[in-house]
Amino acid sequence: AREEIFHFGAGPARLPTSVLARASVSILNHEDTGLGLAEHSHRSALCGKIVTDAVDSLKTLLSIPDDYSVIFMQGGGTSQFSGVVYNLLGYWMDYLVTGVWSQKASEEASRLAGEWMVNVAVNAKEANGGKYGKIPAEDTWKLTEKEKSIFTYFCDNETVDGVEFPAFPTVLAQDKERLVVADMSSNILSRRVDVSKYAVIFAGAQKNVGTTGLTMVIIRNDILANQPTLQTQRALGLPIQPIMFDYKTLAKNGSLYNTLPIFDVWIAKEVMQDLIAGGGLEKQEEISGRKSDKLYAALEASPEIYKIVTVPGSRSRMNICYRISGEGLEDEFVKLATKQGMTGLKGHRSVGGIRISNYNSITEEGADKLAAYIREFAESHK
Ligand code: PMP
Repeated sequence: AREEIFHFGAGPARLPTSVLARASVSILNHEDTGLGLAEHSHRSALCGKIVTDAVDSLKTLLSIPDDYSVIFMQGGGTSQFSGVVYNLLGYWMDYLVTGVWSQKASEEASRLAGEWMVNVAVNAKEANGGKYGKIPAEDTWKLTEKEKSIFTYFCDNETVDGVEFPAFPTVLAQDKERLVVADMSSNILSRRVDVSKYAVIFAGAQKNVGTTGLTMVIIRNDILANQPTLQTQRALGLPIQPIMFDYKTLAKNGSLYNTLPIFDVWIAKEVMQDLIAGGGLEKQEEISGRKSDKLYAALEASPEIYKIVTVPGSRSRMNICYRISGEGLEDEFVKLATKQGMTGLKGHRSVGGIRISNYNSITEEGADKLAAYIREFAESHK
């Protein structure tokens, strides 16, 4: 049964049971309308209010300033690897590559805009002896010179590699002209963020917010206003954004340029409203920190068996990645955990090992149970 499982998968992640219980009613007969929510017109007043409430909830949680737009889109985090490039044409692009997701984003930027527009300012894999796990010191970053119009892109939390920026990079904060773009797919709503430091933030919903496919974009309005015209784009040979990637069109239409999956927006809205009622991101930050501290402490207590793949200062609170020394022990760890109702612990297929995903829906009880299991497993394999 659902109550017996603690699921630590990296995404899609578990959603709060209370929200799913309400969703199961809503998909059959939403608010007694006789229609399921997925059957209502996205143009109806009822659905319009759901979108507005979802936007307002995100604005409340992240204290998003008034000069920003919030757009709900489809296509997942990956679609925004292309989206940010299409919407920031004309800027030089600095990518901080600290894991596989920022690597993929930088590859897409090169593919769309041309390699000559893209500077990989950080290659953490190269800097760290061939594997990700450490964010290189800021004074080693090779950022493009200031005279140009530049955006710097980073992935706030690298889901596969377990690397998270501990705070907004100082060197980027010092240069106010430089635009900053961040992928927060796997840590959004787990801590407070000063949105005013960013030009664009995007996130796929399926870890901390909602269901797969729904994608959120937060963008500063002046960027939309200053985009090159179609004529300029054509004259300069810049690629033309497909209409569904055009933030300006979507913002102008309140995310309803085409048929938005309102049922998914509703789930995200319910999750966010519950977060607000539960004390907002200040509270969530405290809980996330406490859960991840306990899990790392359990691993650090037995360094002879557990090898955490990331260094302190770069460690993710959301995705805790480690190896277990000893023939066959990783498989055994996963198998025994599954037997005890703790699932989803296998590392990403590209890197192996173990990965604990500690998203918002992981309860403190779940984190405690896993931490105790980590300690017991080490004890019995001395
Ligand atoms: N960015 C990050 C940080 C991710 O973790 C993921 C997916 N795990 C993506 C982007 C890609 O998201 P999607 O699968 O929704 O395209």
